[in-house]
Amino acid sequence: MDYKNTLNLPRTEFPMRANLPAREPEILDRWRHKRVYEEVQRANAGKPKFVLNDGPPYANGHVHLGTALNKVLKDIIVKYKNMVGFQAPYVPGWDCHGLPIELQVERELATSSQTREGIGKSQVRRLCREYAERFVSVQREEFMRLGVFGAWETPYLTMAASYEAAEVRELAQIIRGGYIYRGKKPVHWCASCMTALAEAEVEYDDLTSPSIYVTFPLVQPYPSALAALGDRPAAVVIWTTTPWTLPANLAVAVHPGYEYVAVETDVGVLIVAGGRLRDVSVATGLADPRILLRVPGREIEGARARHPWIDREVPVVLAEYVTLDAGTGCVHTAPGHGQEDYETGRRYGLDVLAPVDAQGRFTAEAGEFAGRFVFEADPAVVERVRKSGRLLKAEDVSHSYPHCWRCKKPVLFRATEQWFVSMEHAALRRRALDVIEQVQWVPLWGKERISGMIAHRPDWCVSRQRVWGVPVVAFYCERCEQPLVDAGVAEHVASIFDRETSDAWFERSPADLLPVGLTCSRCGATDFRKEEDILDVWFDSGVSFAAVVEKRPELAPRADMYLEGTDQHRGWFHSALLASVATRDRAPYSVVLTHGFTLDGAGRKMSKSLGNVIAPDEIIGRFGAEILRLWVAAEDYREDVRISQEILGRLVEAYRRIRNTMRFLLGNLYDYGSGGDAVGEKNGWDLALRGTYPPHLTELDRWILHRTQRLVERCRRAYDAYEFHVVYHALNNFCSVDLSALYLDIAKDRLYCSAPGAPERRAAQWTLRRIADTLTTLMAPILSFTAEDIWTYLPGPKPESVFLCPFPEVDPGLVDDGIEALWGRLFQMRAAVNKALEEARQANEIGHSLDARVWLSPTDPRSPSGAEWAELLARYRDELATLCIVSQVEIGEEADGAPPSPLVPDLAIRVLPAAGAKCSRCWNYRTSVGRNNAHPEICDRCEAVVSG
Ligand SMILES: [Zn+2]
Ligand SMILES: [Zn+2]
Ligand SMILES: [Zn+2]
Repeated sequence: MDYKNTLNLPRTEFPMRANLPAREPEILDRWRHKRVYEEVQRANAGKPKFVLNDGPPYANGHVHLGTALNKVLKDIIVKYKNMVGFQAPYVPGWDCHGLPIELQVERELATSSQTREGIGKSQVRRLCREYAERFVSVQREEFMRLGVFGAWETPYLTMAASYEAAEVRELAQIIRGGYIYRGKKPVHWCASCMTALAEAEVEYDDLTSPSIYVTFPLVQPYPSALAALGDRPAAVVIWTTTPWTLPANLAVAVHPGYEYVAVETDVGVLIVAGGRLRDVSVATGLADPRILLRVPGREIEGARARHPWIDREVPVVLAEYVTLDAGTGCVHTAPGHGQEDYETGRRYGLDVLAPVDAQGRFTAEAGEFAGRFVFEADPAVVERVRKSGRLLKAEDVSHSYPHCWRCKKPVLFRATEQWFVSMEHAALRRRALDVIEQVQWVPLWGKERISGMIAHRPDWCVSRQRVWGVPVVAFYCERCEQPLVDAGVAEHVASIFDRETSDAWFERSPADLLPVGLTCSRCGATDFRKEEDILDVWFDSGVSFAAVVEKRPELAPRADMYLEGTDQHRGWFHSALLASVATRDRAPYSVVLTHGFTLDGAGRKMSKSLGNVIAPDEIIGRFGAEILRLWVAAEDYREDVRISQEILGRLVEAYRRIRNTMRFLLGNLYDYGSGGDAVGEKNGWDLALRGTYPPHLTELDRWILHRTQRLVERCRRAYDAYEFHVVYHALNNFCSVDLSALYLDIAKDRLYCSAPGAPERRAAQWTLRRIADTLTTLMAPILSFTAEDIWTYLPGPKPESVFLCPFPEVDPGLVDDGIEALWGRLFQMRAAVNKALEEARQANEIGHSLDARVWLSPTDPRSPSGAEWAELLARYRDELATLCIVSQVEIGEEADGAPPSPLVPDLAIRVLPAAGAKCSRCWNYRTSVGRNNAHPEICDRCEAVVSG
């Protein structure tokens, strides 16, 4: 007789091979079809809210690994919060305006020989809108493919009419608060993109520039502190690496507290900071300078120097920012080309001279250089200085210099007329710094970082000289040029945008945009001109707390969390904070979580030129989105995150382990809940939640159930702390150690060989069912596809989706630390026995472990540990063989010459051949085999099962 058919071997349709690339789209269809996200929101209505406000990705290009990482992190959090007792809606957004799209549209126009001037602003904007729409669709599909839940049919777009109108209303609030002013100030300016750039749009990179030392001769009469020089000619020496800014020089700055020296040299008397004399002498080749006099910087304030070649006298001024780190201690000052220079200029009433146009070319104010591109004019400027006899030294240096984030070209600092939000008005800077203290920053260094940036940033330049964006809603009087910025007017315009989008600004006349009967406050005229500038895109996305969170009832009133890459401390977190503090005097978020960037396996940035880019598509096509999700969870995202084929290979391994464990659980549940038998339960899921336990649970069942509660505790804590790598490791360990290596290994005999309805088998099944529930829900926020798939295979009535199932809680009735301690000892014993069995197998004394009988004894029964072992072994006498998967265990009273185990030295172990014959059904050796005439090949236990 073939007894194999009488065993309860695992059976399940749940496939061993995941085949995720093919299976995932089916699960996505089911989610879409059953509207699972919407169902979850409906089920959670009325619970406390947890609102994650989506930082909108830019609607340009395909999703890359960094964006995928960001979206999956958000998804893990949103799913967890929804399962754990919150209503956590997720409204995805897109950032639609801005330069990159406008440039792309211009490029596409160029290929059909058109220009933006040729087709007009409205048409350019229409093309930009279409471009953004196209990529919103592309990215939406790509994000959904990752298994991310959200309101994908109703996302927010910064180019939507309602968004643009809300944005202008926020601008109105800021105008009303008095923060907005128009001023000529130096801003980062990209001559190639022809626009001002925000701090966040500037990247530092090395650039080779001329490094020159230039003399500025002092004009008589000298200040009294230099009287000792008499009428000898003397000059202050400056150092610069931007010679093109010299035409705009209006002063030389010295530090009030440093000592300056006048030195006799072979090129005349020169003045530099004493602390720089040595280095300057070496750099410029001055031979043996002799100090004539020493004077504190503050005493040469007001001295007058001659510009090296322009007929202009410039003052010596004081500035605290002058350092002795480089240069001469005398600083070339051009208020039109530098932030600090600008501030110094303002203190001394200097002009804001910036003789450079939007394309980076000198204007007529720069005299002989007019028309030349500034960076190309450097050599000519140096030559001009040399010809006028003012050049001490010129050489090339490589230094860190700001570049445009978009076109990668070096940027200039250039004073232009711009709109600013004042950091000092109504103490905006200080209030923003105060509010930062009330926000939870994860990781904590984010707080330092954003505080430092807020503390030192200049006023916020919110205007841009482009067309694809929301206009700065301002007008100018046609007669007297008086600007008109008014909150009421802006709100009036916003109500037009509500219906027509900001296209109205470009299509309607000023009279058509302004309230009826408006006149110039200065001259009474009624004709106005529209401002041409648009708002900074960081202002666009920054006000999403108002345009989206406060507006949509499912999100209102306030976001709990913002979650983006670490670069957003100077980007979105920053602009949102300023906008919110200015208008609401509070932060737009309670928690700010940041993640690092994605790197290759060797820790390098991914780039096309290195050929190390891994696209999400590639991973999804080969392994499935699930592996990408697992990667996001497994890495510690607070640091930069690496990815490589090797890392993916390890994750695929881990995934298989988890999947196979789950498959084993499902396989042993095929006849679970079929009703009417020992455990007497019909409804697995209900019972699992009801806190009543079947009476036949063994201590081993209790042990694994206890371990499961510890796992729940650990995972909940980790999810709450956003430490998903801890969840990954805990799940992985639980599956491979607690379950596969211990519980399942030992329980197999019960599950396979007992009668189907035997109480001990049903108890094991109840345990497995309970664990399967727990594991599936624990993994669902991360392994969403697999969890949902497993869910459909779990027996018994249950919610339609795993995401409608509450997150597991620790069941206090299943926590039992006493059992954990006892069984910890038993598993030590088991490991020692396994080692002894392995040695016997190596020596060909046994084959399968069931071929063995094991003899166990405390090494020293009189020692405390010996007594403890003796008691433990006696107590579990009947279970030891099952526990060790051997046919018999005998307990001795003393070592009796047997060797102590290397793993547990106070235990002596001997491996012997099993007594009796091998049962062909359960493979245990039993003396009962052969006694039954009908079934001579099997043991008495199996005979009872087979005979029913
Ligand atoms: Zn640029
Ligand atoms: Zn006027
Ligand atoms: Zn048997």
